[in-house]
Amino acid sequence: MDIYTIQIAKRSKLPMDIEFIDATRKSGDLRLAPTWNMVMGVKDHIAAHCNPEIGVSIADFRRQYRDIIQQSIMDDRPFWEALVQKEKIAIACYCSLETNKIKFCHRLLLKEYLLHLCHLKQIPSTDCGEIT
Ligand SMILES: [Zn+2]
Repeated sequence: MDIYTIQIAKRSKLPMDIEFIDATRKSGDLRLAPTWNMVMGVKDHIAAHCNPEIGVSIADFRRQYRDIIQQSIMDDRPFWEALVQKEKIAIACYCSLETNKIKFCHRLLLKEYLLHLCHLKQIPSTDCGEIT
């Protein structure tokens, strides 16, 4: 599978043959979404210049999100089996990676997990980068 990422605001730039996958807590598929606490916490943390006292650190976000994805795979295996069989997808979130100085968004983590999952299942996969 070809895996792209995209900011939701740029959806109109998405070629027709690439399936749009909204991975947000707000409007997306909750099987792919972080919790509200994580979303708001990491936002506060980054806004506070990554002050370890504030919000949810990026390392903690990564750990919590990995746990969510692992649980999601156990809870709904058919969904994940179907997801990795798709030919072209773009994982979408609201975050702008251009204005975000540390270039952090869970869509990049989800892409990593999917590439890993494809590798485990011996499904050819390609990291096609961000659609801009
Ligand atoms: Zn995001």
